Formats: sequence, C-alpha cells, structure tokens
Amino acid sequence: MSASLATVSYIGATILFILSLGGLSHPESSRRGNLYGIIGMTIAVLATVFGPQVTAGGYGWIIGAMVVGATIGLYAARVVKMTQMPELVALMHSLVGLAAVLVGYANYIDPAAAGQFAGAEKTIHEIEIYIGILIGAVTFSGSVIAFGKLSGKISGKPMLLPGRHIINLVGLLVVIWFGWSFINTHSVADGMTPLIVMTLIALLFGIHMVMAIGGADMPVVVSMLNSYSGWAAAATGFMLSNDLLIVTGALVGSSGAILSYIMCRAMNRHFIAVIAGGFGTEGGTPAAAGGVQPAGEVVAISAPETAELLNDSKNVIIVPGYGMAVAQAQHTVYEITRFLRGKGVNVRFGIHPVAGRMPGHMNVLLAEAKVPYDIVLEMDELNEDFPSTDVAMVIGANDIVNPGAQDDPASPIAGMPVLEVWKAKTSIVMKRSMASGYAGVDNPLFYKDNNRMLFGDAKKMLDEVLAALKS
Ligand code: NDP
Repeated sequence: MSASLATVSYIGATILFILSLGGLSHPESSRRGNLYGIIGMTIAVLATVFGPQVTAGGYGWIIGAMVVGATIGLYAARVVKMTQMPELVALMHSLVGLAAVLVGYANYIDPAAAGQFAGAEKTIHEIEIYIGILIGAVTFSGSVIAFGKLSGKISGKPMLLPGRHIINLVGLLVVIWFGWSFINTHSVADGMTPLIVMTLIALLFGIHMVMAIGGADMPVVVSMLNSYSGWAAAATGFMLSNDLLIVTGALVGSSGAILSYIMCRAMNRHFIAVIAGGFGTEGGTPAAAGGVQPAGEVVAISAPETAELLNDSKNVIIVPGYGMAVAQAQHTVYEITRFLRGKGVNVRFGIHPVAGRMPGHMNVLLAEAKVPYDIVLEMDELNEDFPSTDVAMVIGANDIVNPGAQDDPASPIAGMPVLEVWKAKTSIVMKRSMASGYAGVDNPLFYKDNNRMLFGDAKKMLDEVLAALKS
C-alpha cells in the first residue's frame, strides 16, 4: 500500500472514530456508533499492517500477535459477565499502558529509530519517549490495582500513607530531575539508568495513587485511567510517528477526561479531591463513622401486596441499581412494565448517572431487555415528578436513593445528587437484606413511613410480582 493511500485510510478511520463517539452518546444510536468504531478500527489495522512502515519479514510476527490477541478478546467477550465489565475495562487499560512502556523502551534502544534524529529533533524524540513511558507506567500499575479493587481481590478501603502528598511531590521532582539528566545523556547505555529509575517511580506512583482511592470513587478512577490510556496511546503515536495513533489517543484521552468530569459532577465530588483519595469504605457493611444513624421501623411487604399497589397506580417510576444487574432481573422488569403499560399505567425508569458499577450500566441492561428508550429517563429529567408518583419501585439500588446525601452533612455521600424516591406516595425497595451499598453508608430511606421493603433476590421477587399481577 502506498503512503498516500495509507494516509487517506487513516483520515477515513479518524472520521469513523469521531462518528462512533457521537453515536455512543445516546442509547438509540449506540449500536450504529459501535459499528462505525468496528469499521474504523478494521480500516486502521489493515492500513497499518499493509502500510509502508511494515516490511515483508514482519508479517509472521503481526499475524501471530493478532491471532493471540483476537483469541483472548473473543474469549473475554464471551465469558465476562456484564457485572465484571468495569474490571475487564481496567485490565485492558493496563495493557495499553504496558504497550506504551514497551514501545518506549524498544524505540529508545532501536538504533534505526535513534539514528533518524539529531539536535533539537533528538531532544524532542527523547522527551516523547520519557513522557510516553511515564504515562504508560502510571496507567499500567494504576489499572492493575483498579482491577484488583473492582474484582474484590484487593480491599476497596483507601490506603492512606502518612505524608502521602509529600511522597507524591518528591516522586514528581525526582522524575523531573531524571528527565533532565535523560535528555542530556549521550549514549543509550547512559540513558538507561534515568529511564529505569523513572519507570520504577511511575509504577509505584500508579499503585500509590489508586490504593489511596476509596471504593465509592472507583467509577471516576476507571474513567480517569481510560483517559490516561488514551494519552499513553497518543504518546506512543508520537514515538512511532503514527498520526492515527496520535489522533485516536487524543480522542480517548479527552473523552475519558470529560467523562471523569461528568461523573464527578454526578457524585458532587471535585476531581482533585478524588485523585487525592481517602473517600469511601470497603462497601457491603454500613459505615460506623459519620452521620446520624437512622432510626425507626422497617416495614416489609410481600410480592402479592406489591403487585396490588402497582395495579392500583397511575404513575410508577422504577429506579434500577446494581442489584438488578447482579440478579439479571431486567427481563422480568420489562415483562412487568409491559403488563402495567398494557393496563394504562404510566411506567417510567429513572437512571442515576452512577447507578450500577459503570457509566451507562443500567441503560445497557434495559436496552438488552428491549425496554423502549423513550421511557428511560435521566435523573434530572424526572426527579421533580416523584411527588405526583404513586409507586417508586427501587430495584437493587441503595446509594443513589439515599436521602442522607441531601439531609445529613456528615454523611460520606453528602451533596451527591440522588433520586428522590421518598417523595412518591409509596416507595418500595427491593433488596435481599439491610446491607449497605457500595459507599458503605446506611440508608434512612428504609425507615421512612411511606417506604416498604421487599426482601429477596430481585429476579425471584419480580417473578413473584409478575405472577401475582397476572393472576
Ligand atoms: P449500591 O451498591 O448502592 O446498592 C446496590 C444494592 O443492591 C445493595 O445494597 C444490595 O443490597 C442490592 N443487591 C445486591 N444483589 C442483589 C440481588 N441479587 N437482588 C436484589 N438486590 C441486590 O448500588 P447503586 O446502583 O444504588 O449505586 C451505585 C454505587 O456504586 C454508587 O455508590 C457508585 O458510586 C458506585 N459505583 C458506580 C460505578 C458506576 O460507574 N456506575 C462504578 C463503581 C462504583 P443487598 O445486599 O441487601 O441485597
């Protein structure tokens, strides 16, 4: 393939990637967005493999690597459950980081690459290598820790070393110092020492940074690492003089940064505060510290009683959360919705931006169950409608419907916008026990007079509600 044809293909792939991002911004167009992405990536891979930079001798290696990569990718796509997606994504980010580190070292050692540059160009090339390895190493080790935390292999509790900000600052100064000595060395052998020292510091920094972040902030961390992996890819693009990699990396880097910002806003957290760490607990058990403990009685309700309440309603809002994903209850939710809508009940869904364990988690599940998009609304679109709602049905959600976020300034989630389900005539919370959610805080909603608890696995209970509705 000629160089100009490769360039044209790269421009085509870039346009498809931008269209893909545009498509992914709405559930209705997300399939099309995915398709654009697939076509763009196919063009990009073909144009690179058959492009002018690959010589005939390299094909064996490339095909071997592609077979291994595609096999692992296909296997992961088939076996990984929807609830394990965030950890898979974290693991994939770690591979992008590792690739940037390896490409950086290979580029530095390669005599052909080094021989291309002299003077100022050589310095710029070395800065590219240094920064590329730096971002790659932070992304790699940070993502491995994020994978460990999300999969429960490492505790979600923030690990706070004394003087951790000072440690980070000293690390940064040492990295800058070694960067200076790196670009002033005259041989590859001399440059290796500062490069290796910097890589070790960057790896430790990545571990330290993510270890200090508490469980409830993990969604932001995953999207932040997504952004880092984009910048690592862009840096790799500079090292390899590959324009497409620079553009794609910048697209991933900036969209990840925007997503991190949107998520911080949704959780009412400042990005810097998230990175500084220290928020959140292990999850699963109520946090002892902070806030007034809710008091009052918890009133349980049965599935047939729930069905009766739903049957007598005109307006119903369903609020799904992580528990719906765990129970895989989305199909039964859809059946109930269809039944109630058939009887003229106005059923809508309220989606919190951080419901579940990854951005868009609930939208994906509801789309899979074929729930119409026009009744799936964002939190801001229907939060005002709860006072005119007969039943607000919470399915396996907890933190996102916690009134303590609004009323209790001492709550660890104080200030996080929540779905105001307690303002409905009756709210029904479907979960297995009184256990807390991801942020590890108790929920005063459970004790409110107009709240009922439907205890049990969401899928099992919803099956019973559906059977009662139909009988
Ligand atoms: P929560 O984690 O707050 O609550 C989920 C609830 O589901 C639990 O209290 C649990 O209670 C219940 N549950 C679990 N399994 C089942 C089941 N099989 N059947 C019925 N109920 C079940 O989830 P939310 O969606 O309300 O909030 C999301 C939380 O996750 C936020 O704190 C957010 O910050 C965090 N997070 C979000 C990410 C994202 O990107 N969206 C990523 C990572 C974390 P019980 O055990 O009693 O059944």
